Amino acid sequence: MSERQDDRQTTPPSGPLFIGSEIYRGSSYGVGHPLRVPRVSTVIDLARALGWLPAERYRTSPRATPLALTAWHTPDYIAALQMAEAEGAVSDAVRARHHLGTLSNPVFPQMFRRPATGAGGMMLAAQLLRDGGVVHVPGGGTHHGLPDRANGFCYLNDVVLGILALRHIGITRVAYVDIDAHHSDGVEHAFADVPDVLMISVHEQGRWPFTGALGDRCSGNAFNLPVPKGFNDTEMRAVLDGLILPRVAAHAPQAVVLQCGADAVTEDPLSRLCLSNNAHRAVVRALSPLSPRFLVTGGGGYNPWSVGRLWTAVWADLAGQPIPDRLPPQAQAVLRALHWGGGARPPPDETLLTTLADPPREGPVRPEITDRLALLAAR
Ligand SMILES: [Zn+2]
Repeated sequence: MSERQDDRQTTPPSGPLFIGSEIYRGSSYGVGHPLRVPRVSTVIDLARALGWLPAERYRTSPRATPLALTAWHTPDYIAALQMAEAEGAVSDAVRARHHLGTLSNPVFPQMFRRPATGAGGMMLAAQLLRDGGVVHVPGGGTHHGLPDRANGFCYLNDVVLGILALRHIGITRVAYVDIDAHHSDGVEHAFADVPDVLMISVHEQGRWPFTGALGDRCSGNAFNLPVPKGFNDTEMRAVLDGLILPRVAAHAPQAVVLQCGADAVTEDPLSRLCLSNNAHRAVVRALSPLSPRFLVTGGGGYNPWSVGRLWTAVWADLAGQPIPDRLPPQAQAVLRALHWGGGARPPPDETLLTTLADPPREGPVRPEITDRLALLAAR
């Protein structure tokens, strides 16, 4: 399925595994793009600085072959994406049909290899989970990708490809949970008519891509919960207890896939939600016992400090590592070396440089949340 796999790479895990790649280090969508900031490389560096990523826990993500990508994407699109990377430019016709070379999906030097590496990581994760286990793929989570075109910073849909890879090896009952600030429109498009795949998406209301309305249920397998700005940790706990956990448990999944986008935290510049990273960690910990297989991805996340901290904290929880109240100097150094890479964003608060876990951000559970949860619970 993927290039450059050897026996060691695909040996079933005896403990949680982290799939990463060096392709993310120094890769940028361009100076004016939110994805100019480092993310996966920060997680790798932080986890190593804390001693949480020994060699036996780390797997290098293979790059998926063009043929493997056609498990969901059209051959024409994959060819256009490869051509765009090779030539560093696209024609007007390719831009119009495949949405490459746009503001949100620009031409950049790794525009094929980087997403193909994310997809290869998700496909490898599926293989590693054959007999059970826990895998973290922070480079995965490109939930907006569509079969024939790029969409919302996503060139491919590695989530869909990963779930298809699970289903291909007989793991057909999957629960997909998405707590990114944006609706998982590409994943919903893929599995709208597949009742075996339960899809739960919690996302900010009134925000791009403007899909995922409360009443949108696909073939009964989709639960969409739009939430208002200011969404807090207490409200996320209500959503976890009132929607996510009961529906996932009732589905009795062979695998749980969590898209753990990091853009619903207060510090993120692309949403108006106000979670702390404790909310994401609580979802991770609560989902873990509900299935023999647990795959946790990245996703959105555009503040270089908050996204790196969040996914590192998630890995700590998956790997059973206690998070210190204050980071040691070598870990602080990783965070202090980060920068926005352009724009006029404010410098980070000191706590983003010295800690991994945020202070809790509790608040009232507003009627919009309780009313919508009641409607979904009645289905
Ligand atoms: Zn997002």
